[in-house]
Amino acid sequence: MEKHIVVLPGDGIGPEVTKATKGVLETVAAQFGHSFTFETHDIGGSAIDNHGTPLPEDTVAACKKADGILLGAVGGPKWDNLPGHMRPEKGLLGIRKQLGLFANLRPVKGFDSLLHASPLKPEVVGGSDLLIVRELTGGLYFGEPRERRNNGQDVVDTLAYSRHEMERIVEQAFQSAQVRRNKLTSVDKANVLESSRMWREVVEEKKSDYPEVEVEHMLVDAAAMKLVTNPGYFDVIVTENMFGDILSDEASVLTGSLGMLPSASIRQDGLGLYEPVHGSAPDIAGEDKANPLATILSAAMMLRYSFNMNVEADEIESAVHAVLNEKYHTADLKIEGGTQVSGSELAKKVSEHM
Ligand code: ATP
Ligand code: MG
Repeated sequence: MEKHIVVLPGDGIGPEVTKATKGVLETVAAQFGHSFTFETHDIGGSAIDNHGTPLPEDTVAACKKADGILLGAVGGPKWDNLPGHMRPEKGLLGIRKQLGLFANLRPVKGFDSLLHASPLKPEVVGGSDLLIVRELTGGLYFGEPRERRNNGQDVVDTLAYSRHEMERIVEQAFQSAQVRRNKLTSVDKANVLESSRMWREVVEEKKSDYPEVEVEHMLVDAAAMKLVTNPGYFDVIVTENMFGDILSDEASVLTGSLGMLPSASIRQDGLGLYEPVHGSAPDIAGEDKANPLATILSAAMMLRYSFNMNVEADEIESAVHAVLNEKYHTADLKIEGGTQVSGSELAKKVSEHM
């Protein structure tokens, strides 16, 4: 298959980890007889430096024509004191919004070789393998009005959703559950919120379209507790924007390292933006120390969700497992008796394994 990939390296370690990942994608293409073409564009701080805006028109136009988008990270101290509309982060929020990427997918897996890195007990984290599907463009973070009233003595935020916005994210979650272990936990606060009651209705309505998926409803407070007491209980979790924001950060401690967590922001036709959960790590940028595995695993998600290449995605993921089992790691991971290598060397090990 021919696929066109737009790469947005961004700032800090973004260029290193995307470059390393491109190498792995080229290995996949060669191995499976695909043709991947790459086109690189600026976003974030580097775009502010080169074009005077965190999200240049060129970048948006290229992303609209892409089959998949791979992003490094944006931001850094150099741009911290710019006015709001000129912040590097605006580039990322802007591209997600302009492309209508409403579903945020964050898989979290307890890697056997890294169990000791989690602050939770190995026997609790071991075997956990879950996916959080978070609604990304509605709810409390976007609702209007949002304002101070009565001389600053009162304040209002608005939690608004349309049925359509709920339906499309719930459908995405059912489809994700189908290609995993057929178990869906819908998380809400239906004992107090009207929006959550409508959310439950939508999940109940959609259920009959996916008879093989086992569905349950869970209140967000209970889900927050279960995530750290029994994470192995979950397969796919679907929830609205704010609950998903909080739960996905909570779940990220299971792996014990920021350098291992991939993510995707996708829409119904399959276009998606894939990026590591970690930031631009300015403290180690340019030293080839950054762990590229979160970005490599994000590329595997691109193959799975945007290109429908499941075998190829499996291949990358098992190569990552194999390299860790051989105890190769970057400085952020502590593996007893392991061999510490640079970021680019670790990516090469992944390619070799494939
Ligand atoms: P942001 O606000 O962009 O999310 P942040 O302040 O939350 O950024 P990161 O940039 O993610 O933080 O970095 C947090 C810490 O984790 C830093 O010490 C950084 O060096 C480290 N870190 C982040 N990503 C990686 C990586 N891929 N490899 C190694 N260390 C990393
Ligand atoms: Mg952060």
